[in-house]
Amino acid sequence: MKLCIVGTGYVGLVAGAGFADMGNEVTCVDVDERKVERLRRGEMPIYEPGLEDLVRKNAAEGRLAFTTELAASVPGRAIVFLAVGTPQSETGAADLRHLFAAAEAVGRAIKGHTLIVTKSTVPVGTGAELRTRLARLTDQPFSVCSNPEFLKEGAAINDFMRPERVIIGAEDPTATELLRYLYEPFVRTTGRFIAMDVRSAELTKYACNAMLATRISFMNEIANLCERVGADVESVRQGMGSDGRIGPKFLFPGVGFGGSCFPKDILALLHTARQTGSHLRVIEAVHEVNDLQKQVLGAKLAAHFAPGGLGNRQIAVWGLSFKPATDDVRESPAIDVIREVLAQGGRVTAHDPVAIAAFQAHFGTHERLSYADSPYDAVRGAHALVLVSEWGEYRRPTFDRIKALMADPVLFDGRNIWSPHEAATSGFRYYGIGRSEPR
Ligand code: NAD
Repeated sequence: MKLCIVGTGYVGLVAGAGFADMGNEVTCVDVDERKVERLRRGEMPIYEPGLEDLVRKNAAEGRLAFTTELAASVPGRAIVFLAVGTPQSETGAADLRHLFAAAEAVGRAIKGHTLIVTKSTVPVGTGAELRTRLARLTDQPFSVCSNPEFLKEGAAINDFMRPERVIIGAEDPTATELLRYLYEPFVRTTGRFIAMDVRSAELTKYACNAMLATRISFMNEIANLCERVGADVESVRQGMGSDGRIGPKFLFPGVGFGGSCFPKDILALLHTARQTGSHLRVIEAVHEVNDLQKQVLGAKLAAHFAPGGLGNRQIAVWGLSFKPATDDVRESPAIDVIREVLAQGGRVTAHDPVAIAAFQAHFGTHERLSYADSPYDAVRGAHALVLVSEWGEYRRPTFDRIKALMADPVLFDGRNIWSPHEAATSGFRYYGIGRSEPR
């Protein structure tokens, strides 16, 4: 099938490469000329495992092309996907400026019957709004559908190529059938292609993200309670996760969730609710708990260094991306932690396997913030090591080597990846999340 994808970010690029890999002819369009130039040279604008090989292979075989020329890429395409960003606006609502600009450019360019499919995460009612806007711009036949994306950064290729399910929102049965045909090879094993109306599909995406975020905030509150009552949240988590009704996923306490989706999608959902006079009390609490959780490491550092305070002490930070296996630093908890250390007067030496450049571009420079080429270089002379994102290479470090390099052997484990017992026997003072010594 001939497809066009508008927006070549984490979602658009993975989807474009994935559709091409199933034999479709895909043109990816972006307004960012530098990004398109890099992609044409086979350079990835983002870090995503497996992406470079997939893009290069499909580009070389002539099924995947990159361009800034939207008007030339839309006519004759059966399906045009909108995968542009829908960031948070000042009110918390999703900012739909990019989406409307892209959709209107598509509307002006379509020739012959075209499915315009929103892959971006958009508030309920956006599909209806697009239909109205497009009808003003074209007399060509079109149908607006919703196809929310559920891939996870860091595992995006596998999630896209083998999704647990594909959700389609459409009002027109022939549109549903065309999308079913497109996705059939992707859901061959599970067979899960779930068709519904557009509004329900739009809401499903927000409801999923809100549910996952709820589990995280729930566990963070349980972790904080564990510290008060002398329980170990890691034992509680395993006990809970073994209940088939609950399951083990998304029960990991930590430093609060970040990323380009959960925080903004929760605020957008709350905004949608407010507009309709609804009150989503649980989700409001999820947001509030997360804001508080992002301060937990800073508070633990302040308590450890009291009463003198951090002064000019050096703090090593491991992990800058919002989670492992990505260079995405949007809303990363590392931002809050580093800001807090700097505000308390400390110095930071940070390491991340891939996200240093993205973090520098996002955070800017600070005279007391520097970066190290290796995790061990980062801890040299440090008075504490703070782990923020749990990259594989941080999971089993050589504690003796770390201790020999540090000025003070103190660990703040923001993801509970280390054993408090091993840390203690290696001579460290250990702080986790919800892991106080049992009474
Ligand atoms: P992104 O910021 O990485 O990429 C968006 C791209 O759209 C950019 O390259 C930008 O230049 C381009 N763009 C903006 N306006 C354009 C226009 N008018 N024409 C052409 N291109 C344009 O965003 P992302 O992370 O890929 O997210 C895209 C959407 O998918 C968002 O709605 C997001 O919420 C949703 N989503 C993201 C993820 C994820 O893990 N990143 C997962 C599921 C859903």
